[in-house]
Amino acid sequence: MEASSPAGTEPISKPIEFVDLKAQQQRIRGRIERAIGRVLDHGQYIMGPEVPELERKLEEFCGSRHAIACASGTDALLIAMMAKGVGPGDAIICPAFTYPATAETIVLLGASPVFVDVDPDTFNIDAAQLPAAIVAANKLGLRPKAIIAVDLFGLPADYEAIQSFAGREQLWVLADAAQSFGASTRRGKVGTLGLITATSFFPAKGLGCYGDGGAIFTDDASLADVARSIRLHGQGKHKYDIVRVGVNGRIDTIQAAILIEKLRIFAGELETRQVVAEAYTRGLGNVVRTSSVPNGTTPAWSSYTVRVSADRRDGMRKELHEVGIPTQIYYPTPMHHQAAYRNYPTVGKRLAHAERLCREVISLPMHAYLAAADQTRIIGAVTSATQKSARPPTR
Ligand SMILES: *Cc1c(COP(=O)(O)O)cnc(C)c1O
Repeated sequence: MEASSPAGTEPISKPIEFVDLKAQQQRIRGRIERAIGRVLDHGQYIMGPEVPELERKLEEFCGSRHAIACASGTDALLIAMMAKGVGPGDAIICPAFTYPATAETIVLLGASPVFVDVDPDTFNIDAAQLPAAIVAANKLGLRPKAIIAVDLFGLPADYEAIQSFAGREQLWVLADAAQSFGASTRRGKVGTLGLITATSFFPAKGLGCYGDGGAIFTDDASLADVARSIRLHGQGKHKYDIVRVGVNGRIDTIQAAILIEKLRIFAGELETRQVVAEAYTRGLGNVVRTSSVPNGTTPAWSSYTVRVSADRRDGMRKELHEVGIPTQIYYPTPMHHQAAYRNYPTVGKRLAHAERLCREVISLPMHAYLAAADQTRIIGAVTSATQKSARPPTR
């Protein structure tokens, strides 16, 4: 598609990418080809030497004692809950404004999600509503077991409040960090903020491979052993010693080899994403409603999501699209309104913030290869698109 250039700026040579995987690949293509070549040479496509090598590097990166690489972020969530024995009769508390995998893995294990509303400024689970989630679970005769805190758009959830509540109620915390690997808070890096952390290496996530992949992190050695066993069909001492029900949840050796190369440049990419996010916040803070980042927290900025008035959102998306700026809606429907999840408990009848966010959010291009000129162009286009319409939504 041809993009028109605003007067007085350089002609636009190529359309802006929402996530630019090509620019990143160009930078490390040679290294990736050699890494894949080594796997082709040794031929250990399943659980080859790159898998433990990646795991050691992931542990080093985030400071977690144990990393277990998995076939996807969804498998990481599933295996983490299987390792903790989640099953029928259990209630798992999670936010309603999230990606489907968070809720799906709970239901697959026969447990029930209890959907909680989110904070309108951080988009993450509202910790103040956790006590009411326990009440909702108990009312249905469910045993509250755990909280899944989702770090939406790369911003870690409020683990301070969540962990202290979980401690009082004897719940454990699973961090769904599919979007936040690489982020950090005052309490430490993502990977160390819950009893267990699950992340995703889906290509468009902050650290992505060239297919599906994910990982589990924990400091608990026995939990790590159980998760490793579940990943390999519940394997015990050897391949055909099956000590528990497991799954095929391994990462491919080729994906591990690719991730080792991507991890080398990941810290630098995170810094560049932070620069992009700061430029957006400076340029758009008075134009749309930007999310707020708590002091001491550095998000991973897997996406940059703002709020605009609901009646203008589609029009704005169309205008931005016409000038070559792609946008996405993460997410158009809260989980408790999805056909598959409508009958699970929620805290209260309405989850007002989650419902409103679904009508107001819009995600802008975000990646480490977004040129300063493109950012300026995006900020200008968003500004002019909002000026044609109403005000940003009220607080
Ligand atoms: C992407 C994502 C997942 C699932 O990860 P996959 O690797 O795609 O299976 C889970 N939770 C959240 C919040 C995600 O964004």
